[in-house]
Amino acid sequence: MKITFEGASRQVGRSQFELDTGELSLLLDSGVARSEENLPQPPSRQPDAIILSHAHLDHSGHLPAFYRGAKMPWLTTFPTPPIMGTLWPDSIKVVASRKEQPVITEKDLKAAAKHCVTLPLGEPYSFFEGTTATLYDAGHILGSAQTLIESHGKKLLYTGDYNCEQTRSHHPAKPPTKGVDALVIESTYSNRDHAPRGEVEETFIASVKAAIENGNALVPCFALGRTQEILQVLEAHGIKSDVWVDGMGQNITLTYQDFPSYVSDAKALSRAVASAQFVENHVQRKKLAEGRGNVILTTAGMLEGGPVLSYIERMNASQRGSILLTGYQVEKTNGRRLVEEKMIKYNGKTLSVGLPIEQYDFSAHTGKTKSFDYVRKIAPEKVFCVHGDPAVCEEFAENLRLEGFDAHAPKIGEQFEF
Ligand SMILES: [Zn+2]
Ligand SMILES: [Zn+2]
Repeated sequence: MKITFEGASRQVGRSQFELDTGELSLLLDSGVARSEENLPQPPSRQPDAIILSHAHLDHSGHLPAFYRGAKMPWLTTFPTPPIMGTLWPDSIKVVASRKEQPVITEKDLKAAAKHCVTLPLGEPYSFFEGTTATLYDAGHILGSAQTLIESHGKKLLYTGDYNCEQTRSHHPAKPPTKGVDALVIESTYSNRDHAPRGEVEETFIASVKAAIENGNALVPCFALGRTQEILQVLEAHGIKSDVWVDGMGQNITLTYQDFPSYVSDAKALSRAVASAQFVENHVQRKKLAEGRGNVILTTAGMLEGGPVLSYIERMNASQRGSILLTGYQVEKTNGRRLVEEKMIKYNGKTLSVGLPIEQYDFSAHTGKTKSFDYVRKIAPEKVFCVHGDPAVCEEFAENLRLEGFDAHAPKIGEQFEF
């Protein structure tokens, strides 16, 4: 087999790897990046199939662009297509609102929908040439999968984004096999461990309680994964009244409920959703923002747009409540400005924010210790460290080499045979 690294190589974003089995060309993921070069390198030829590890746009955002005339299948888990039904149309709108060149169009989505093949976890899909693809739970978000490709006695495992910790939403990822010829592994947090989840939950809940004593707890969350995790954390710690969900997280939460066997505790999820309310309109949003005692989970990645900004403006005006961030904030975004400079850019103006701002690590990615354990358990012939900052990928590969592994941090365009 031959693998070419066409994205997410010494970078987080635009994941795409081209696999040549000799007879077949398979594409693993096709995502976008929030950077100048936002698309993966084009594959050397039209793929025979695309395998999508999970719904996040850095893995999926470019996939429909292949369906301008092409007719190959794209394979993924059962929960992923309904999530894409929310994320892809939203990404088209976001790109249009930024007046950027469209990456995908509604027409692409219609064409791609005709070629979607959903696979049960753990059951091989056979290509007629004697190659199989099998998906295994990755513990990262709803429907996230690791991909095992077997072809003529060779095996490649791609972890995708994976999480080896038990969370409220998902069971930990487990190595599906041992002794593969090539392991393509996520490196995002391979350089540091996360704080124990129990401790993170305790301090987060203490801050929520303090915030709602005199105002609101505003909790900006990713729509996919984080919103559902935080809902369950709140419910488990007895915060059941006046929990609100605003934005795209509403739709994704409904999709989570459609797949009880893909979450770790479907009953706990149901209880958490039942005790929350959905924000329905501007009037309600304004009333909530100006009120007290509400925990508001509003969909926001980096606080660049959407209702989160109007909540911040109103809460800032009354100087009541706190902002509790639940994810990493990328440089040069409102989220990072808020953490580092206590200000955001809003409606062309700069707004100084006087509210308490806290940040919690509810990561859905494997930390350092378990990243190394994972490689040791799988004992691959070759390891490719991808999906991480350049120095992080290099350090991961370097430390694996010290343990005797044939490890690489490939650059974009690099090709390896195994
Ligand atoms: Zn992801
Ligand atoms: Zn990713």
